[in-house]
This record gives sequence, C-alpha cells and structure tokens, in this order.
Amino acid sequence: MFLSPYAQMQKAVDIVHSSPHPVNKIAAALFGQDQDGQDYSVSSTNYWPENIVKTIGTSCKIGGSSGTIHAETGCILKAPYTDGASICVTDPFCPNCAKNMAEAGIKTIYIDHKGFQKDFALRRGSHFDAVSMQICEKAGISVYELYRKEERLVPIWEAPESFSPFEDSPAQISAIDVLNQQSFDQYIDDAEKLHYSRKFAIAGAIDKGGAYYIILVRSHPALGYCMQRDKAEMIRDDSKYNFVLEPVSRLLMNAARNGLTICDGYLYSSVVPTSREQVNMVGAGLMQVIVGDKERARDETAFDAMKLLSMQSIIRFIDTAH
Ligand SMILES: [Zn+2]
Repeated sequence: MFLSPYAQMQKAVDIVHSSPHPVNKIAAALFGQDQDGQDYSVSSTNYWPENIVKTIGTSCKIGGSSGTIHAETGCILKAPYTDGASICVTDPFCPNCAKNMAEAGIKTIYIDHKGFQKDFALRRGSHFDAVSMQICEKAGISVYELYRKEERLVPIWEAPESFSPFEDSPAQISAIDVLNQQSFDQYIDDAEKLHYSRKFAIAGAIDKGGAYYIILVRSHPALGYCMQRDKAEMIRDDSKYNFVLEPVSRLLMNAARNGLTICDGYLYSSVVPTSREQVNMVGAGLMQVIVGDKERARDETAFDAMKLLSMQSIIRFIDTAH
C-alpha cells in the first residue's frame, strides 16, 4: 500500500545518505491526503537551501541558527496540505520540528528504531523526552517507534481517540477578493490595531485554485499550550529550546496546514524575525519581508542574521511606511 508507514520509512531511509550534512544525516517522508482526497507523499533530507550554499556556504552560522533546513520542516514546506498528515523520520526529532509539526496539523509521527541507537540521538535524548514529546502530547500527535523488517510499531505515546488539542490562539485565515500593496497595507494597519505591541506576522497567500487569503498569527506557545494555564510547565533552565513558536514560523506552518502558498512580497513581521525564522523563510522560497520595527527582535542574533542575509541579497528586509 502506497501510504503504509513502512514503505514511507523506507523512502526516507533510501535518501538519508544523500543528505549534504557531513555528520547528522537525517531524512523524513511526509504523507497524507490533499484537500481533494488525493494521496500524496513528499520526502526530504536535512539540507542547506541553494542560495545559502552558493553565497554563505555551509560552515557559517546565520545569526544564532545553522543554515540548514531540518528534514521534517523541509517536508512540510514542500507538502500540498499537511492537516492530518503523517510523517516518518529516521531519527528522534528536535523540539523546533516538534513545534512545527504540531502547528502544521500533523497527527502521527513514526521514528525508525535505529534512530534511537545513534550517538546523535543519545546526545539529544533529554530534549526529545523533555521537550519534543511534551509538545506532541499537548498537540495530540501519536508517536511510534517503527521496526521496518518486522513491520512492527511500538507506541511511545498514543493520542486518545478523537483528541482535539486546545487552540488558544489559532491562525486567523480569511478569504479576500484582491491582494495588492494597497490592500495589504490596510490589513497590516488593522492587525497593528488588534495586536498593538504584541509580536505578530501577517501574509497574503494563494490556494491552488487561485483564490487569495490573509493569514494572521501572533507569537504563541506550541499548539495545545495555553499561555496562562501552562506557564509553569513552559519554564526551562536551558535556553536552546523553548515552547514558543515565533510568528513567521507559525505563518509558514499554517500555510502548509491549509494548502496555501505565501505570496513573496506579502509577508509582514512586526519585529525582525529570529535567525531560525529567517532561515526557514529561505527554505520556503521567500525573499522579502516587511518589518514593522527593525530595532526590535527576540534576541541579538536576529540582527546578525538580517545583516548577513540582506548583504548577500538572500532576503530583502523592507521598511514599513507605518
Ligand atoms: Zn528538527
């Protein structure tokens, strides 16, 4: 069967050695049904976007982030419609990908059992248990360890039947008649009034039938978390990973979840996107972002990434007239 997780895992395993990463070679295959009920499957290794390889290279950091797109996120950026989809990954996934997969509406994750035996997984183990799995439980994503040869699944965590995660602040998606600079400026204005000093992002997007939409999101903890209720749970000592999903990342994931493509030039972020958001933007093929306040960012590394990517003409950071 085309959509069996064993066949899909084999697809990921078959390409994993083609990963350009010298040490951590990872691959994933994402599969499900698009809005028309058609089966699809896409796969990806972790990789550096072509324009980053050409101009910056693979050894240089981009602000605080590596220049790579993780395999799981790479699949989401390629997929036609991720709501309810499943994904096979060769290795235990990182917290950032867990947040992305939750936001993209993925419901089932299969991890190759061999992935748990690698050095890399052992090093990453505490993040997997303490952060990635917590995110999956809150989002209602079932996670299985998959044995290809025996065609056997061992549940790591199974979401209760008909579990529906709490959505504190879902993306607001509205159908619109026209998308042009003037109308987009108006949507930015309205969003600014609504969110005031909160971090948010907004984009114009198109579906495969050619209809336009506006997607509006604010920075928010991963799907299923509630800002107030889960405050204590979200406090962590190390700062490498946290539970918050930044707005541009949320936009990219919600576009995938709803089968929409963000129109380049129609992306606005109220502050400078984080280094990771900027790299993921490049992975999504976006080359422009309008920034509300270029003096504001989550951390200093975002400014370094902005400097580097604009100097190399990979992303244009456009000043807003607002
Ligand atoms: Zn990852």
